[in-house]
Amino acid sequence: TLDDEDTQKEDNTRCLTMLGHFGFDCLPHQLVNKSVQQGFSFNILCVGETGIGKSTLVDTLFNTNLKDKKSSHFYSNVGLKVQTYELQESHVQLKLTVVKTVGYGDQMNKEASYQPIVNYIDAQFEAYLQEELKIKRSFADYHDSRVHVCLYFISPTGHSLKSLDVLTMKNIDSKVNIVPLIAKADAISKNDLQKFKCRIMSELVSNGIQIYQFPTDDETSAQVNSSMNGLLPFAVVGSMDEVKVGKRMVRGRQYPWGVLQVENENHCDFVKLRDMLLCTNTEDLKEQTHTQHYERYRCCKLQKMGFPDVGPDNQPVSFQEIYEAKRQEFFDQCQREEEELKQKFMQRVKEKEAAFKEAEKELQDKFEHLKRIQQEETMKLEEERRQLEEEIIDFYKMKTASGSLQTQVCTNTKKD
Ligand code: GDP
Repeated sequence: TLDDEDTQKEDNTRCLTMLGHFGFDCLPHQLVNKSVQQGFSFNILCVGETGIGKSTLVDTLFNTNLKDKKSSHFYSNVGLKVQTYELQESHVQLKLTVVKTVGYGDQMNKEASYQPIVNYIDAQFEAYLQEELKIKRSFADYHDSRVHVCLYFISPTGHSLKSLDVLTMKNIDSKVNIVPLIAKADAISKNDLQKFKCRIMSELVSNGIQIYQFPTDDETSAQVNSSMNGLLPFAVVGSMDEVKVGKRMVRGRQYPWGVLQVENENHCDFVKLRDMLLCTNTEDLKEQTHTQHYERYRCCKLQKMGFPDVGPDNQPVSFQEIYEAKRQEFFDQCQREEEELKQKFMQRVKEKEAAFKEAEKELQDKFEHLKRIQQEETMKLEEERRQLEEEIIDFYKMKTASGSLQTQVCTNTKKD
């Protein structure tokens, strides 16, 4: 120890022991803590014919019993059933939204079957866009219902895709991450399955349908993701039944000839799907939804609203300038319409005035005419009265004359 003291004195340095951790290498932990506190959300859209195993697969994926009563095959239109669940695994909260098609593939005319699906996806984008455009946004408590993944259930026919599958996938591939699945894969033999998978992939390519590719740009998951891309579409089997295999209870389907174990990778691709969807690529699915699909919708919508990407000079235009221009255009249009309305009003007033004047003149003429008739009548009556009076005077004259004549005759007679 004497030697130590000597060395310390020589170096003249103080040694301090660290009391705690410091440095910005803690940043990722802050992010993790915050995310865990906020909780996670994930939205799945299941598209497939009635009875193809959508509900069973979702139950198997999340180890839940979300299963509701069996859907009918007799709906006249395709509908969508939306259910939201709050799930918890250790201390991680997950708000899971499952949207399932109802009545898909049950109508005679299947041409419009994809429309309700497209409408639903767009409606979720629209709701998000409206929230974004608000002056006072509240994304902290906003439930983002945009669809992160579409599990497309293909019938295990062993032949090819149905025209309905092609039509629907073609109409939604630019709006959502499609993960194609061969449903009820226990209904198809191992040899047929391989051929069926190849057939489906080549049909998707020849029809120009873009399905979701597990990302290979992150070196931690590149290898597994690229090998999984080669296994698409996943052949899945769902079951909530517990079956005894040896001494263990496993999730599976019991058949007279044996047990299909859902979580056995030699039996089906269920585990691969679960890993890809929930362990490895959940965040990428959400990111693709936001940066690719939503961005496309937003861009298209804003263009439709009259906000072009670039101006006539090929330079990006500012939102503010376009907004001002739109405002001015709207203001001008309002003024034009107001002016037009005023003109129309004046025209109507003039027309009415002219009509009133015309009616007044007619009345006046009528009045004059009646007045003239009445004057003529009065004059006629006057004339008649005057004649009558003259006649009366004549009568009295004659009466007086006859009276005096009579008196004279009487006198003459007496004299005689
Ligand atoms: P949904 O109408 O698409 O939701 O179908 P359901 O999940 O209600 O399943 C319909 C029927 O198919 C039920 O009797 C399920 O037990 C059965 N089913 C579900 N998944 C599978 C599967 O992977 N293989 C087989 N063979 N049957 C399944």
